[in-house]
Amino acid sequence: QQELRTQALGRQLFLFEELPSTNDRIKDMARQGGEHGTVVIAKRQTIGHGRMQRVWESPDGGLWLSLLLKPRLSLGDAAKLTLSAGVALAQTLQDLYRLEVRIKWPNDIVIQGRKIAGILGEVAGEWNTVQTLILGIGVNANFSGQTLSPKIPAITLQDILGHEVNLNHLTAELLFNLEKEVQSLEQGDVQGLIQRWTSFAVGINRPVRIEKAGISYGGIFKGIRENGELVLDQEGQEITFSSGEVSLRAE
Ligand code: ADP
Repeated sequence: QQELRTQALGRQLFLFEELPSTNDRIKDMARQGGEHGTVVIAKRQTIGHGRMQRVWESPDGGLWLSLLLKPRLSLGDAAKLTLSAGVALAQTLQDLYRLEVRIKWPNDIVIQGRKIAGILGEVAGEWNTVQTLILGIGVNANFSGQTLSPKIPAITLQDILGHEVNLNHLTAELLFNLEKEVQSLEQGDVQGLIQRWTSFAVGINRPVRIEKAGISYGGIFKGIRENGELVLDQEGQEITFSSGEVSLRAE
């Protein structure tokens, strides 16, 4: 906490040895009037989750962090904060460890084509008339990717760097970059966010395939709209996809 360079994010910080899920815990705090910027970190999660209740494996050595945000944003703009989190996280990993980081739409952070971190944004509802948002951020840091289930195409910072990283420092830099992103969104700079996001995106302006409900769509990945939807160009026809039951593959 001494390393923090933020105004709000992480000023209230709760550290646990173990939690079922940091997102679930911070949702409880939100209900009880938790402050903007409150952070919950657990050394391990026993039922960490990804999108649609998929399992997010969270052993000791990772950074498993959830954040409570009450930004001065409309509901529509608040939804963009998962994009902000992706940019902040990619930027942080790139700056701290000189890694080539990419964002795979909608919000997986990948290095060498494998998932190093994930982001889970949830609208926590409205308390005290302020829209409250939960962001869960998981970074595979100080453990071997081989300890995860064999089918998961994951990689860890330790795998890549060959040594452990300082989680306090990583946390402080991540929160600093994220606070900058939140502030720039509050100032209305959506275009800047989209630009930064796009500069990290996997497959931009290239042929990709989108799988949706068992159907495969091929086309050129043109970019994302302000609401985060992916735009695919199919022979001159633009189709958009929202991040629901969809997955993207670069061709
Ligand atoms: P996706 O959007 O790619 O399906 P989610 O954000 O829903 O990913 O995350 C859940 C998925 O991530 C799981 O189904 C699993 O395949 C994978 N996964 C679980 N734990 C980890 C981890 N620690 N690192 C990387 N991938 C993981």
